[in-house]
Amino acid sequence: MHRQEVRSVVIAGGGTAGWMAATAIARVLGPRLTITLIESSEIGIVGVGEATIPAIANFNRMVKLDEDEFLRHTQGTFKLGIEFADWKSRGHAYMHAFGPVGRDLAYVPFHHYFLREPDGQAGSLWDYSFNHVAAKNGRFARIEKIPETPLAGLAWAFHFDASLYAAYLSRLAQGMGVRRVDAKIAGALQHPDGDVRALKLEDGREVEGDLFIDCTGFRGLLIEQALKTGYEDWSRWLPCDRAWAVPTANTGPPQPYTRATARDAGWQWRIPLQHRTGNGHVYCSAQVGDEQARETLLANLDAPALADPRLIRFTTGRRKQLWNRNVVCMGLASGFLEPLESTSIHLIQVSIQRLILLFPNAGDNEERRREYNRAAAAEYEYIRDFIVLHYHVNERAGEPFWDACRNMAVPDSLRHRIELFRETAGIFCAADDLFQLTSWLQVLWGQGVRPRGTHPFVEAVSPRDRATYLRDLRHLVAQAAGKLPAHGDFIAKHCRGLAPK
Ligand SMILES: Cc1cc2nc3c(=O)[nH]c(=O)nc-3n(C[C@H](O)[C@H](O)[C@H](O)COP(=O)(O)OP(=O)(O)OC[C@H]3O[C@@H](n4cnc5c(N)ncnc54)[C@H](O)[C@@H]3O)c2cc1C
Repeated sequence: MHRQEVRSVVIAGGGTAGWMAATAIARVLGPRLTITLIESSEIGIVGVGEATIPAIANFNRMVKLDEDEFLRHTQGTFKLGIEFADWKSRGHAYMHAFGPVGRDLAYVPFHHYFLREPDGQAGSLWDYSFNHVAAKNGRFARIEKIPETPLAGLAWAFHFDASLYAAYLSRLAQGMGVRRVDAKIAGALQHPDGDVRALKLEDGREVEGDLFIDCTGFRGLLIEQALKTGYEDWSRWLPCDRAWAVPTANTGPPQPYTRATARDAGWQWRIPLQHRTGNGHVYCSAQVGDEQARETLLANLDAPALADPRLIRFTTGRRKQLWNRNVVCMGLASGFLEPLESTSIHLIQVSIQRLILLFPNAGDNEERRREYNRAAAAEYEYIRDFIVLHYHVNERAGEPFWDACRNMAVPDSLRHRIELFRETAGIFCAADDLFQLTSWLQVLWGQGVRPRGTHPFVEAVSPRDRATYLRDLRHLVAQAAGKLPAHGDFIAKHCRGLAPK
């Protein structure tokens, strides 16, 4: 990388990735840098990506964003989890709810006590999830603890309108001094050593910089087209490669969770916002034609479509290096994991945090770059395994797409996790694994994996005390959820969306 102090950052692309990066870098490193963002209103943004996970609160804190104001500007709603319908088998549904499930006892994770009870006597696993009970009853409040108990409150994320989000962040970033250029980038101009020197615009201008952030979406204008970084293709594990997306009108108050319904060769999302509902059908084009996939989407909407469906093509995987020379890529330019667990915006956010931590210095940045790429690769792989789990462990026998998913050879790291859970009910996660025990537990259990045993220490608590403990937990959760306001009422009181201008 060019050995000069980084004074000028140029961001190529102004979708969610570009504006998140601009806002955060301006907020944290602002006065030290000049920041320029180039976007093309002619090309526009991908315009999907409307569901998040709770860690987005870290980004909001970093950029000092007022949660209610942000929701008003983006027609946002609260999200307590994702419901997976028909994934294990047709007619079956479960939720990956955020927040804890139950409460650990005597150093043994909660679920071992739950599993030890005779069939059916401990209720459902999700009776112990405050998030799940609140979500299914359409309730929400910002509550950090269940009063007068040691139990955690709700853990929430958001659904929001992707176009409004980019526009909102754009105003924030420009207010902090980010220069916006509306132009088409024709290509990158390189130093003799291969680093990028400037971006050449179609109108002939050149925009020079020291560090470039490629947020140009699937094109990867700098990271791929200029630097030829290469792409690791994961479609052998995640064969879906296309999506139709379409908005519909709301049919009632927005529900505080995303719904993902499995289809013949893919799945369909439903994301409730204040002013509309986002829908899409992610599918495997080798198994179902575009027209048929479009029909499937249109036939399974809760309300008539508000626009023509849009087709989006993608290849699951990641760039071989997410930081190459003096170019860091973020968002769709860095890779793609299908939106089943709403992880793309999270990956943008952690890329920004990591870049700020490892911000290049004058001199040799080889070790920083290596650490950045190592951490980014691990993060992508953890999430990949978690998503593959949903497909692989299914009971939809006799359906070609689902049979192929069940019979495929999964990454060793995933195979080990599944087998360990089957054998011991144990779930072990690395500290930097985005999805921790309760996430893996809900999907493993929800998809039908049943362990053969539980932790031996469970026996240290008498059967009677175990049963009482579980009954009390269920009761506290149900009681607390019953006292929450309706999600729609909470929004109306605190963050009703602004009328369109
Ligand atoms: C079907 C689908 C569903 C998704 N759902 C979710 C979800 O629920 N949750 C989630 O977290 N993520 C989701 N994602 C991912 C999410 O949409 C993206 O991570 C997010 O929108 C970031 O996109 P981006 O900014 O990288 O790219 P884009 O939005 O495509 O922006 C690219 C930018 O680059 C600019 N640009 C490109 N070429 C040029 C050029 N030559 N000159 C100038 N400017 C240029 C464009 O104008 C635009 O501003 C989904 C993605 C897909 C495909």
